[in-house]
Amino acid sequence: MNCPYCSSPDSRVINSRPSDEGASIRRRRECQNCGRRFTTYERAQLEPLMVAKRGGGRQAFNPDKLLRGLLLAAEKRPVDEAALRAFAYSFEDEVGRPEITSEDIGRRAMAFLRPLDDVAYIRFASVYRDFDSVERFLEEIQGLRESSAGPESEREKPVE
Ligand SMILES: [Zn+2]
Repeated sequence: MNCPYCSSPDSRVINSRPSDEGASIRRRRECQNCGRRFTTYERAQLEPLMVAKRGGGRQAFNPDKLLRGLLLAAEKRPVDEAALRAFAYSFEDEVGRPEITSEDIGRRAMAFLRPLDDVAYIRFASVYRDFDSVERFLEEIQGLRESSAGPESEREKPVE
């Protein structure tokens, strides 16, 4: 940290204490060059979640984009918009690691939508999963029917 008065990089910490109830550390420093004192604050900063794209490349996770996808899938369906919003905006914290693939985002969103609404789930899945054949799409619908008819549906629901 350069001295704000003379730009010298040499400073000595003379006092250090937590502030903002522990959210940051306040350090009192003394410049070794000009002798003046200044204060720095150290604060933890979460790194943005990075998304590894299917075709290569990375970009920062965008909760608005995820929310748009969810809203589109749930259009005119009896799905609580607040629940979609909460999912999208807590997503980054839920993931809890620095990087995720776009496929994994899709999978997590599908697991979230599935118990809420079959139609929204299928709409979302058809976009995100990028069905490579009609057969795969039909299998997916078939799987839905079976799971909502049998006791398996209880097991498939994610634990909340
Ligand atoms: Zn200085």
